[in-house]
Amino acid sequence: MAHPLELMVSEGFEQVAYGHDPDSGLQAIVAVHSTVLGPALGGTRFWPFATEADALVDVCRLARGMTYKHAAAGLDQGGGKAVILGDPAQIRTDQLIRAYARFVDGLGGRYVTAEDVGTTQADMDLVRSVTPHVAGTSEAVGGSGDPSPATALGVLCAMHAVAERLWGSPSLADRHICIDGVGKVGAALADHLHHEGARLTIADVRPEATAAVAARTGAAVIAAGAAHEVACDIYAPCALGGALSEATIPALGAAAVVGSANNQLATEQDAQRIHGSGVLYAPDYVVNAGGVINIAEEKAGYDRARADERIRGIHDTVLRVLDLAAAEGITTAAAADLLAERRIAEARMRRAAD
Ligand code: NAD
Repeated sequence: MAHPLELMVSEGFEQVAYGHDPDSGLQAIVAVHSTVLGPALGGTRFWPFATEADALVDVCRLARGMTYKHAAAGLDQGGGKAVILGDPAQIRTDQLIRAYARFVDGLGGRYVTAEDVGTTQADMDLVRSVTPHVAGTSEAVGGSGDPSPATALGVLCAMHAVAERLWGSPSLADRHICIDGVGKVGAALADHLHHEGARLTIADVRPEATAAVAARTGAAVIAAGAAHEVACDIYAPCALGGALSEATIPALGAAAVVGSANNQLATEQDAQRIHGSGVLYAPDYVVNAGGVINIAEEKAGYDRARADERIRGIHDTVLRVLDLAAAEGITTAAAADLLAERRIAEARMRRAAD
């Protein structure tokens, strides 16, 4: 593995900070990829990484992804991410979370933390008692609460954009949509789609999750693992990453893929693969930005109606990405990256001119 400083230079990172607290056992890394558009926001992943090198590579990859996600969404915030090394079930204590909050506080607001895999909203509320540099706390402490409904609304708006482009109308009435994973986002999305008159097929590894959604929406339930093959209008991966791969893309039964899952393309080559297959892929980080747009609204004093209005902007962002892909003759995934890179480059030029 490259030395951390080499990695920072080659990947364009601004800062990578290591934190250690001997009393609580905290070992953490914060990666600030870019603050060109604003303070670097990104969640804290609490995970038993096999090695410190694995943790460093992961935190950097995730931080970079946040830069692109925020830039494409039009948010004035940069990209960052943090990892706490260890198994939260074994080592998480309030003392450790407070020590982590002091570490974040010491970065002076260049990095704003939030919840991610292995940390909870209660953890972020505890972080908030130490530092203001945290977002996505509970409504009880002035935050925006669970981001999942906001993410689901954003996915719905992305589907409207795709429907407009493919079928000439944003209406999803009578469209057949297959949702893979009906957890927090997938279930809320199913409710929206049912309300709009769509026909639903759903899959999940948890039978209780599909049963609850089917009872509310009349969705047909299929076995987990088969959702991508369903002949339908839109396939919505809302479970884990890697749903679009060399194995699944040739078997896709939908006209378009629009879902909330992060990192849907298993490899970079899969962007070209799905492009070549003729299935319209709405890039994951553009589609699932509702959660971060919602959190960004905390800065001005959270207001749900205003946040929802901004989230609806995902519709226009998706159309911009599709237009850019067509105009440049590139994949939709590349177009999303280009949109983000152009916005960062413009902000960098403005900053240099100041
Ligand atoms: P969740 O854990 O509540 O739901 C995921 C669901 O997928 C669960 O019901 C789980 O049983 C199911 N699942 C797991 N493996 C599966 C498989 N192989 N096949 C079918 N179903 C399977 O998570 P969530 O918050 O709803 O997030 C869903 C996805 O969206 C994740 O990839 C997440 O990273 C991404 N995302 C979520 C948000 C948010 O606001 N929650 C924001 C951005 C991105």
